[in-house]
Amino acid sequence: MKKLETDVVIVAGGPAGLAAAVTVGEMGLSSILLEKARTTGGAANMGMGPLGINTTIQKEQFNDISVDYAFDLHMNYTHYNVDADLVQTYFSKSADTIAWLQELGVEFAGAFRYFRESEATWHIVKPENGVIGPRAASGMVKVLTEKAKEYGTEILLETPATSLIMEDGKVVGAKAVDAGGNELEVRGKAVIVATGGFGNNGDMIKKEFGLTLMEDFYPFMIPGVNGDGLNMMWEVGAQKFGANIEAIYQLPDNMNWFILDAVLRQPNLLVNQRGERFMNEGYMGNTTYVGNALRMQPGNYAYCIMDRKILKSYKKNGPDIMDIVHPADAFHGFDKEAEMAVEQGYSAYFEAETIEELAGKMGIDPETLANTLDDYNAMCESGVDTQFHKDQKYLHEITGKGNFVAGKFYLGAYGTIGGVRINKRCEVLDKDQKPIPGLYSAGSDANTIYGDSYNFTLPGNTMGFAVNSGRMAGESVMDYISNMEA
Ligand SMILES: Cc1cc2nc3c(=O)[nH]c(=O)nc-3n(C[C@H](O)[C@H](O)[C@H](O)COP(=O)(O)OP(=O)(O)OC[C@H]3O[C@@H](n4cnc5c(N)ncnc54)[C@H](O)[C@@H]3O)c2cc1C
Repeated sequence: MKKLETDVVIVAGGPAGLAAAVTVGEMGLSSILLEKARTTGGAANMGMGPLGINTTIQKEQFNDISVDYAFDLHMNYTHYNVDADLVQTYFSKSADTIAWLQELGVEFAGAFRYFRESEATWHIVKPENGVIGPRAASGMVKVLTEKAKEYGTEILLETPATSLIMEDGKVVGAKAVDAGGNELEVRGKAVIVATGGFGNNGDMIKKEFGLTLMEDFYPFMIPGVNGDGLNMMWEVGAQKFGANIEAIYQLPDNMNWFILDAVLRQPNLLVNQRGERFMNEGYMGNTTYVGNALRMQPGNYAYCIMDRKILKSYKKNGPDIMDIVHPADAFHGFDKEAEMAVEQGYSAYFEAETIEELAGKMGIDPETLANTLDDYNAMCESGVDTQFHKDQKYLHEITGKGNFVAGKFYLGAYGTIGGVRINKRCEVLDKDQKPIPGLYSAGSDANTIYGDSYNFTLPGNTMGFAVNSGRMAGESVMDYISNMEA
């Protein structure tokens, strides 16, 4: 077995692991970063950017938001079911982290809202092609990776860590397997674990949440994000704590049906398999709220129904709900993608001339669906949603003119969050809430700050937590090593 030595062993090179590597490098510590994939960045390669609160960018845009305000908003949202000190430490650091990223060479396109009712905390990385959209944050990954290397971090790609080394009650390294299948033992004074949760592990998802991948749950799945770090930490006594999904909603296989997904998520008539309405569709911009509501329905899905007359008005006047992930210009590509979906028999898209035909295609009792539609249209006509109090501006009568169109949206997720408990120093706690010496965690493995539901009103939150907690872990490791040597 090959043996390596360093100051800090970093397990995984997503945004959390990379931020930790740069941080320890800045302070003169050596590090070895073990990364399972062929490249660094993890889920952040698909995302757009991290949260920042009270940043210069926000102030320049007159969109400034104080840490006090954000903290209060978040703690009220979570009903204080989370570690307030951890939240406070992260939020207070976030402006400095955006400035730190800028100093390293990351450029931001600005600070954005995810949907209208959210705050402009989402610092979207300036995309290389100039178009704000998915994958923009890969630019940040590149900068962090290069900086880590400059500081001497040895990045070992295709080298998954397999277990932690514990000696005399302290974590002192990790075992791994390199690209050639050789076993490695990497020893250090401390270990930071940041393997991004278990969004790609169907068995763990079933066990922890009772959800079945590609049956009643359609999340984004990042290859290799299988809960390795959590299992390793649990093995050495870390407390099992707070695992959850970062709930969203989407069409199955949505990356291939992105335009349908973008267009059909407007606040029209949302019904479950029983043909019943179940929420105020005006909240369809808040993807977590809808994800949660879908989870209350049979099969964790629902159909969002409108017609081509409504679609035409969206094309002309812009949609009811706008967000950056699902841009309004998607409407112009709708007809082509819809035609393709019909041709290929895509199971989550429906078109029909009559409500009975639509019900038949969806397997809903036609009479129930027709009644639901009649009731809904009566409310549209009167301008008052007596059932769920949807804003009048979203009440468009659905007559089927031009034909009915509908999408079958499922509970999804950006990934999982949580699994181990950390304190504000990112020390991993055991079941008695005592730090396990030498063991630190950051990013999604350790992100337990949302309680039961991800907080999309402060967007950029998980990537923000990843980068900030990576830095926090790096700084704490420095203190730990300094104290050890003092
Ligand atoms: C499509 C999409 C868009 C998103 N957009 C945003 C956004 O704009 N803003 C935002 O805040 N959040 C966004 N997110 C979420 C965000 O990307 C994640 O919260 C963030 O990347 C988590 O960082 P992390 O470092 O904890 O883990 P990850 O980014 O998941 O990285 C984990 C890393 O661990 C590695 N790994 C796994 N097992 C091992 C092992 N045994 N040994 C070594 N390495 C291992 C993986 O290969 C991976 O590189 C998005 C997610 C998705 C899927």
